[in-house]
Amino acid sequence: MAIENKKVVSFHYTLTNQQGDQLESSHEGQPMSYLHGSRNIIPGLEKAMAGKDVGDEFEVTVEPAEAYGERVETKVQRISAKLFRHPGRLEPGQAVSIQTKQGPVQAIIAKVGRFNIDVDLNHPLAGQALTFNVEVTDIREATEEEISHGHVHGPGGHEH
Ligand code: ZN
Repeated sequence: MAIENKKVVSFHYTLTNQQGDQLESSHEGQPMSYLHGSRNIIPGLEKAMAGKDVGDEFEVTVEPAEAYGERVETKVQRISAKLFRHPGRLEPGQAVSIQTKQGPVQAIIAKVGRFNIDVDLNHPLAGQALTFNVEVTDIREATEEEISHGHVHGPGGHEH
């Protein structure tokens, strides 16, 4: 059974950046599961999955446009330090949660000044080419309910 739309696919992966640093790995726990054709995973990886079979192992490098997008410099924003309620000392590179009208968003501290703080709202992996080493562990038909929800239920998916 090859991977195509409306299949639930489980796979183990490691994610490495172009400096060779391993950023994520599923091998410590359960494989990741997703519904193929429903944009549950980044587009470049989903494309590479199509047609693969259980037991297949492969490596794919995905450019930023097919991963988490390019970095957008206007997403680096200057906030008055007075408005910044955060316990303790802030350091560049630190991940923080920022309250916005749309709810909390994750940001990285870019620069700490005396009166202002620059926060970077880009996805931490934006602008990076990503290499995935993938092993397909299971493929099954999606249920009608999973297809209508657009995601996987049960182990590795939504529990509801
Ligand atoms: Zn659901």
